Amino acid sequence: MTFVTRFAPSPTGPLHLGHAYSALLAHDMARAAGGQFLLRFEDTDLERCKPEYTAQIIDDLTWLGITWDAAPLMQSQYFDDYNQSVDLLISAGLTYPCGCSRKDIAAAMAAPQEGAPHAVYPQTCKSRSISDRGPSDAVRLHMDRACAKIPGSGMSFEETGYLKSGIHLVDKETLISEVGDIVIGRKDIQTAAYFLASALDDIRQGITHVVRGVDLFDFTQVQVLLLSLLGHTPPVYHHHMLIRDDDGKRLAKRDDARAISLYRREGASPQDIRDMVGL
Ligand code: GLU
Repeated sequence: MTFVTRFAPSPTGPLHLGHAYSALLAHDMARAAGGQFLLRFEDTDLERCKPEYTAQIIDDLTWLGITWDAAPLMQSQYFDDYNQSVDLLISAGLTYPCGCSRKDIAAAMAAPQEGAPHAVYPQTCKSRSISDRGPSDAVRLHMDRACAKIPGSGMSFEETGYLKSGIHLVDKETLISEVGDIVIGRKDIQTAAYFLASALDDIRQGITHVVRGVDLFDFTQVQVLLLSLLGHTPPVYHHHMLIRDDDGKRLAKRDDARAISLYRREGASPQDIRDMVGL
């Protein structure tokens, strides 16, 4: 089987050690398999993504010795295409419009509820019809209707990463009760949300193996569901461990997460970076 993988950073900041581990691991796996390594910039957030971060990430990856086998894909070039997929899910009757702000959602979730507290979108707008979507509405997936489309035998995906390797069944109950009616079309930029755009681009780039951090494992079921609803076969997933500091805190979440450019300025070599992340 051919092996095509990718590194898909969001250019909202510099490349840090956690990213470097992810990129080096995916690159090493592709080269060891005689396959391909591709790059994708997930730059849909037009406010937070900056061309200077994209340039710095390319520079740092090159310095690390990473090469890619096609021009990097820029998600900001594909908004029309993502919207077509959102439209397909709209036409299939699987969506509703939602004008709730984060504040509205928090207030609804704080209100006394019967039974378990809501961990997911409280479905305030669920009775609205998608034909009434206004310019300030997002598009949400009607998760129970979407799950009803899952064939009786269920849907599965293969995971080869650490801890969780094996065949996983997409679990309708978990999707409905723990993931809920996710946003698939954003209101701010009027295009698809992360889950959908990223999953679609894995197909567009012919990715056979998604290599990424285990923090994204819980999104995989949603992405497999979305791909299946749109008639695509999901890739194999390989979720890797996260690089943590000495206190066990995830590096990416630390304000002072060390940027690769900082290590470079201090005279570190690419091999030093590999040693630091245990590769
Ligand atoms: N853009 C995401 C991030 O920077 C990664 C998405 C993915 O690898 O699927 O965290």
